[in-house]
Amino acid sequence: MKKVPFVTKEKIEEITKTYSTPFHIYDEKGIRENAKAVKEAFAWNKGFKEYFAVKATPNPFLIRILHEYGCGCDCSSLTELMLSNALDINGEDVMFSSNDTPREDYEYAAKIGAIINLDDITHIDFLEEILGKLPEMMSCRYNPGGIFQMSNGIMDNPGDSKYGFTTEQLFEGFRILKEKGVKRFGIHAFLASNTVTNEYYPQLAGQLFELAVKLKEETGISVSFINLSGGVGIPYTPEQEPNDIRVIGDGVRKVYEEILIPAGMGDVAIYTEMGRFMMGPYGALVTQAIHEKHTHKEYIGVDACAVNLMRPAMYGAYHHITVLGKEDHPCDHQYDVTGSLCENNDKFAIDRMLPEIEKGDYLVIHDTGAHGHAMGYNYNGKLRSAELLLKEDGSVQLIRRAETPKDYFATFDCFEVFEEIFQ
Ligand SMILES: *Cc1c(COP(=O)(O)O)cnc(C)c1O
Repeated sequence: MKKVPFVTKEKIEEITKTYSTPFHIYDEKGIRENAKAVKEAFAWNKGFKEYFAVKATPNPFLIRILHEYGCGCDCSSLTELMLSNALDINGEDVMFSSNDTPREDYEYAAKIGAIINLDDITHIDFLEEILGKLPEMMSCRYNPGGIFQMSNGIMDNPGDSKYGFTTEQLFEGFRILKEKGVKRFGIHAFLASNTVTNEYYPQLAGQLFELAVKLKEETGISVSFINLSGGVGIPYTPEQEPNDIRVIGDGVRKVYEEILIPAGMGDVAIYTEMGRFMMGPYGALVTQAIHEKHTHKEYIGVDACAVNLMRPAMYGAYHHITVLGKEDHPCDHQYDVTGSLCENNDKFAIDRMLPEIEKGDYLVIHDTGAHGHAMGYNYNGKLRSAELLLKEDGSVQLIRRAETPKDYFATFDCFEVFEEIFQ
């Protein structure tokens, strides 16, 4: 499918009069339409809730929009819990799916009444020691090991992943939790990442539903919810077909009716923890070409770098690029599009065919709405960019300012040589 940016050259020229590049910009209209579609796709399940994976886009303005559609927050750390709680999203609207969890994170999660999703059987004792008494509702993360494969060949490798309880541990864990007075239970699993197929959730659901039935037979525990977690993908490349959330929702319903209803478990709530699918396509990194370099290859140097978007450097991930105003020009130039880090992997594109780029052109790097700004860092003394919201009425709101040198030096406030900066 042809990838078209949600902003035009004219709009960006207008915005850059106020906010300089680089910046991430988000599309309110797209976020709302998608959140509504997710809600409708699972409306057949009475208890359905999407817990937005805060780590993907930890911006309070955006999370508040999702909350209007009934989304809670899936948090993995103390600060993510603090962010949710500050938005008055707490109690069972928060799923705490962490791993290798520090003590203070559990304390805070319990304090705000979040549902705690344990990543390991040893954390039962750890949590009990911290809290004195376990919460009434507990969830456990499942990892069956091996390979998770779908019929179209897409697969992932849970056997290699650090997360979750083994099957044996899960049954034992639930028995222990029950003995210790836990009253309500949930199962969680995240077995494949960025799945661009409508099959993933239904297949995962089938596996977890069977597990839940077996758990009921063997331990008498009937779970209250099954959490399909994240992993629903988006088409980063023009060749990929986008997932259809209605087809996914219907697929989960089908296995629910086949497995859970006959087992007398028709009241189990379905939870999801999508990050990428909720926000990925509705964000873009806008950057300006500031240099061109002709050596052994053709380079376009832009004013963003990997600290603004780490995925290409970290995973070799593809992000589509549109040169604004040149949407219809032939892609007859081959470029490496680079940032300014002293790291040769700081490239947003390698050997990419693009229209001829001139200095001053604006480039839209697509699909940065999830795991984009969020993965930012300060290597090479680089500063994180601003985040802007393109509102439904066409106006633009600053939803996070760009960092300044003062932010960069903030943790040296104990060091007198920086006094001038802090005055
Ligand atoms: C990262 C993560 C998610 C979100 O994953 P996406 O691929 O962005 O949907 C959900 N749950 C947990 C526990 C995660 O770690």
